[in-house]
Amino acid sequence: LPAFNVIGLTRQYGEGAAAVHALQGIDLQIPASALVVLLGPSGSGKSTLLNIMGGLDHASSGECWFFDQALHQFSEKALSLYRRQNVGFVFQFYNLMPSLTARENVELVTEIADSPMAADEALALVGLDHRLDHFPAQLSGGEQQRVAIARAIAKNPTLLLCDEPTGALDSATGRTVLKVLQQVNQQLGTTVLIVTHAAATAEMADRVIHFADGKIREVIENPAPVPAE
Ligand code: ADP
Ligand code: ADP
Repeated sequence: LPAFNVIGLTRQYGEGAAAVHALQGIDLQIPASALVVLLGPSGSGKSTLLNIMGGLDHASSGECWFFDQALHQFSEKALSLYRRQNVGFVFQFYNLMPSLTARENVELVTEIADSPMAADEALALVGLDHRLDHFPAQLSGGEQQRVAIARAIAKNPTLLLCDEPTGALDSATGRTVLKVLQQVNQQLGTTVLIVTHAAATAEMADRVIHFADGKIREVIENPAPVPAE
């Protein structure tokens, strides 16, 4: 089974003349352990789809299967359990606790997860074994994002969902963060989905799904490298 099988998915915000049709009939499959980039301009529906796949939002119609689980039929409580057991989230902003060290930020998750890895192991995986006792303010933006990735993977999620993970970083730092996400995908076998409007992100993907106006315009397998800016 694929990790995701999405069938005729729509999401409408609001009603009548003011309605926004954020997703207008999405069909796609995501193989388990793939690294997939959802690429497209702002407002094209990428985050809406990611949020539905991550159990943070409901579709208006259609189906969203996670392996054999029908997420589109889940209650709020079932979605909450789904998120806790299966999903790590990474966002544009790192949302680290400023009063806690890198290790302590990751331990917030490992202390409550069902089968976590050690906080130090997660931080080593993102290349921060020399920053365990640093506070967020003592870390660069790229390092703070790597702590956020360590926090997301420390609960051993099946899925890592990343919404504009390099959006606040310069392009060189962004590339190091993308390499960390690629390494997580390859070393842990985590299915990684990355939402971005930055075309350069696509070169490391197994598959790039191009969005425009709430629809999939094109799907490209194993894209060719994009020249550095
Ligand atoms: P992208 O991630 O590609 O930038 P989004 O999924 O965030 O696109 O947004 C798709 C469309 O849905 C946009 O027109 C956006 O303004 C709208 N939208 C997203 N979230 C909401 C919401 N909570 N309420 C109303 N409209 C929304
Ligand atoms: P629980 O139900 O186990 O208390 P939550 O449902 O609050 O946990 O969150 C589960 C996961 O979803 C966490 O990783 C959390 O960071 C993420 N999450 C929940 N709500 C949001 C949101 N609005 N935006 C981003 N991430 C969220």
